[in-house]
Amino acid sequence: MIEQTSPRVAVVGCGLSGVAAAETLIRQGFSVCIFDMGENPGGRLAVRDIAGTGTAADGEVVDVGAAFFTTSSDDFSARVMDWIARDLARAWFDTCTVIEDAGRRRSSGPMRFAATRGTRSLVVDLVEVLSASPRFELRLATKVQQMRSDLADPRRGTASVTIDGERFDAAILAMPDAQALRILTPDCAPLLASQLATSQWQPTISHTMIFQERTWADDDFWFVNNSDVVASIADNGRRRGTSAPVLVAHSTAELAHAHFDSAQDAGPQMTAAVRAILDITAEPILTLTRRWGLAHPTSAREEECGWDADARIAVCGDGWHGKPRMEAAWLSGKSAALKVLAALSQ
Ligand SMILES: Cc1cc2nc3c(=O)[nH]c(=O)nc-3n(C[C@H](O)[C@H](O)[C@H](O)COP(=O)(O)OP(=O)(O)OC[C@H]3O[C@@H](n4cnc5c(N)ncnc54)[C@H](O)[C@@H]3O)c2cc1C
Repeated sequence: MIEQTSPRVAVVGCGLSGVAAAETLIRQGFSVCIFDMGENPGGRLAVRDIAGTGTAADGEVVDVGAAFFTTSSDDFSARVMDWIARDLARAWFDTCTVIEDAGRRRSSGPMRFAATRGTRSLVVDLVEVLSASPRFELRLATKVQQMRSDLADPRRGTASVTIDGERFDAAILAMPDAQALRILTPDCAPLLASQLATSQWQPTISHTMIFQERTWADDDFWFVNNSDVVASIADNGRRRGTSAPVLVAHSTAELAHAHFDSAQDAGPQMTAAVRAILDITAEPILTLTRRWGLAHPTSAREEECGWDADARIAVCGDGWHGKPRMEAAWLSGKSAALKVLAALSQ
């Protein structure tokens, strides 16, 4: 049970931005309850565990959401360094192959990091640390339906937020904009709602291919810029450091749009495209296909997060903080928590 003496904040969403917000609030002595409709923490940091194939892939953890992460801020770099020190993450690659109409070239860029046990493990680790606090509560498999702001609650004389009938001092929606919009009632934080309604998000299909053996040229990652079907291919065995014969392709947004109701139907097309690109003659022995309806915003706002001071509701995630990626989600979650801290500490 959460202690009731400190301000109590609801965080909806147990992805990277939600746990970043929760960690910041808990450190400052606040009570936090995270809700997530999923069975597991992590959100788009999702994995599949492979078992029963009778191949070298058994026991493999496959990243079926985010492929890798990069760092540019001191804050997120410190987080990543801690993960590396505890063997939760490792430097994966800074040079990979880019495939274009003009041909194939090697391209160098920032260091891409991978999670040693899959990206979800990073969020699970953060949740485990938070769980040591009596002021932290996590409710998984709990879909929040509606949020209401009681601007001046006459019984308490302060603003509060009600989530599915339960009162909190403030709330943070840590998720893609369209999901946040489904929770906000029309008259609750109207300016925030109009901001959320302007963004556009792209779908992606994640297609995992498990082969009997590795037959493709050694590389970690291929950016595919000349295909209508596949946008990128990751070598999951090299990502994990296991050499398991597993590839994960992400589709173009166009293919995912075309297969809105039937991601599985896109699987054979994606397998064929990957086999052609990497010159693989064998068929995979198993494929796993998953569609992400809200994979990425087409662009992220420069604001660090959304915040309605009157309603005491913040919105955060990778739709904020400049670049739609894990680092932005982390920083945006912390920014949202700082808004709440400042408001409730007055
Ligand atoms: C296929 C794919 C590839 C990607 N590749 C990369 C990459 O290579 N590098 C990179 O940096 N980023 C990548 N990303 C983006 C990265 O995954 C996100 O930036 C990051 O995970 C966002 O975290 P978040 O906490 O903002 O949102 P999410 O992870 O989406 O978390 C939101 C959470 O809110 C929950 N939720 C939503 N509505 C409700 C509700 N009503 N009630 C309760 N819970 C709710 C969801 O269940 C979810 O767990 C990729 C994403 C996808 C999908």
